[in-house]
Amino acid sequence: MKNTYSLPPYKIKMVEPIRLIAKTDRSKRLEEAGYNPFKLRSEDVFIDLLTDSGTGAMSHFQWAALMMGDESYAGSSSFYRLEKTVKEITGYQFMMPAHQGRGAEQVVIPLLVKHPGMVFISNIHFDTTRAHVELAGARAIDCVCEECFDLSNYHPFKGNFDIERLEKLITEYSKESIAGIIMTITNNSAGGQPVSMENMRMVSELAKKHHIPLLIDGARYAENAYFIKLREKGYENKTVKEIAKETFDLADIFLMSSKKDGLVNIGGLIAIKDDEDFYKQCQIRIVPMEGFPTYGGLAGRDMDALAVGLLEALDESYLAYRLDEIKYLGDLLIEAGVPIQYPTGGHAVFVDCKAMCPQIPFDQFPAQAVCNELYLEGGIRAVEIGSLLLGRDPDTGKNLQADMEFMRLTIPRRTYTFEHLRYVAETVIKVYQRRNSIKGVEFVYESPILRHFTARFKPVE
Ligand SMILES: *Cc1c(COP(=O)(O)O)cnc(C)c1O
Repeated sequence: MKNTYSLPPYKIKMVEPIRLIAKTDRSKRLEEAGYNPFKLRSEDVFIDLLTDSGTGAMSHFQWAALMMGDESYAGSSSFYRLEKTVKEITGYQFMMPAHQGRGAEQVVIPLLVKHPGMVFISNIHFDTTRAHVELAGARAIDCVCEECFDLSNYHPFKGNFDIERLEKLITEYSKESIAGIIMTITNNSAGGQPVSMENMRMVSELAKKHHIPLLIDGARYAENAYFIKLREKGYENKTVKEIAKETFDLADIFLMSSKKDGLVNIGGLIAIKDDEDFYKQCQIRIVPMEGFPTYGGLAGRDMDALAVGLLEALDESYLAYRLDEIKYLGDLLIEAGVPIQYPTGGHAVFVDCKAMCPQIPFDQFPAQAVCNELYLEGGIRAVEIGSLLLGRDPDTGKNLQADMEFMRLTIPRRTYTFEHLRYVAETVIKVYQRRNSIKGVEFVYESPILRHFTARFKPVE
């Protein structure tokens, strides 16, 4: 395969040693961890692809900015530096920091739920967003396009809303019962797949026409904007910053986990376009939940690092390299016949374990079994995104079957090199070659909620 990839627009100044422990030790550690990679110690992991959330490397500008942190309880100058940057990027009038994405969600989501029985509609709700919608007494409806489920065929914007279905849902629930429409960009659960500007514009027009608040869940808004530049007609010559601004113009509220495109290890954001009354309501809620509105659960130095990171994440040479890292890993896997969500998205390669191990039934969690094999084979930690994550039906207690059984290989920002990724590909391919002999797992312990974090398993005999 003759592909060319971008070069990293940075060099290494500080290193953190990693080591591959012996195969017999990996086997022992995995058994001790109850065959659940979440329970491994990170020092026993060679390459950690569990998540891209808060796992990236900061630049020397960000480390320098940390020293400028103003740790005043109220009115910190770090806050004003962050506010200036967020306003510049979004064009929104109001901004509050939060400790991370779910902190922003717990402040904003319940304010939109005016009465019982309301719904939120999203392309796909991220799990914590769904949890906050449900905790607020509303229901979460996903409305993603059909192409999203066609894993092996190319579509430039698999994260898109199904517009026809969205219109039907708006009629069905009538606008009084719709608490908000949430555009998740990129669409995390669909494989980090982007949403086109055309699609977002149509969603925005529908929301405006029916007076429904439009939210952006924009943990990876910069990656989404770069995909638009690469793939959507008319955007080739626009800057990512301009494309992002055009995106923000479409919505009313912006929620962000800054642990992704904020290029920091902790942090979140709430930004509100122009509704001062709504902003005041958020201010009241944020104090008991996250902290005073000028720090929202963050140290002054965290806000300074974020103010710098937000701008670095819009740098197009950085984004070109970032997306190419994911593509490189995906290309190596495709070349070897490993089934993945194609094309690759912005932050991870999703391996289709349903296609890879059809002998494992969904309630023996094929993707969890493949993740375990990957750790045994090469000390790599990945994560299951499938029926284990989905959980049980609260009414019947039965295991729910997910549409897709994915092993997610999530790439931290500015952290690993192409050599690491080549090793990851070679290891996945070795596991793939013995896929027919892989067996499922069964529970030894299962917690009633969010079971994937703490569950213990044993391999099925
Ligand atoms: C990570 C994420 C969140 C939650 O953010 P945390 O910082 O993990 O609390 C919300 N939405 C999306 C799309 C995410 O990727």
